[in-house]
Amino acid sequence: MKAPMTRREVLRGLGLIAGGLFLAACRRQAAPVETIGKEAATITSTPFEGREAMIEGIHWIGHASFRIEANGKVIYLDPWKVKQAKPADLILVTHGHHDHLSTEDIARIAKPDTVIVIAAPYANQVQGDVRPIAAGQTMTIGGITIEAVPSYNTNKPNHPRSAGNVGYIVEIGGRRIYHAGDTDLIPEMSAFRCDVALLPIGGKYTMDVKEAVEAVGRIKPKVAIPMHWGEIVGTAKDAEYFRGHMPEGVQAVILEPEG
Ligand SMILES: [Zn+2]
Repeated sequence: MKAPMTRREVLRGLGLIAGGLFLAACRRQAAPVETIGKEAATITSTPFEGREAMIEGIHWIGHASFRIEANGKVIYLDPWKVKQAKPADLILVTHGHHDHLSTEDIARIAKPDTVIVIAAPYANQVQGDVRPIAAGQTMTIGGITIEAVPSYNTNKPNHPRSAGNVGYIVEIGGRRIYHAGDTDLIPEMSAFRCDVALLPIGGKYTMDVKEAVEAVGRIKPKVAIPMHWGEIVGTAKDAEYFRGHMPEGVQAVILEPEG
């Protein structure tokens, strides 16, 4: 029969386990090095300080359509052309254009208890647990804080301020993610506080890439993700320009559309 371990043996065993975990953690942190923008940046896995943690769970469906998976919740923003339909806890819609408000896509991802937050003027276009919202209002739903912010054109007719369109700042798990909707560069952006900014760069209906770079300078997120390119307007070249012109302290991440 094996004698029971002495206290010293137990402590030594624990020490070996701790050492192993420490080495594993170091290996995980040291490995991924990637060139982002003009500078090479080392990615670390420190929660909410590194780029990886910032973009974790943020899936670009394409165009202005995103799915965020965080804290066990599934959140869709302007779902459009969704291929991987996951049951949504929350759906946020910025405005009524067909590439942002798609009742067909909403029907595919909605479950009986899905909450749909939508810019108030379009609330009657969707069915279910619908919560109309206007810029300046904040709601908390299932532990997720949703702040609606202004979103409008300043030099084109497509999205007048009077339309009541919104952008969203979603706070979940201590991270603030801003989805701009179809907007131009607007003065209110200087007051937006977020960790991750999802910004249109396509021009024509929204700000163009140079204006989007200026928006980043005003908002000062940790990570900026270009959207509203690759479909309808905006090219991969625009996305590359965006990534190459980030102000100091901001990392741009170009996501692959996942559908
Ligand atoms: Zn639009």
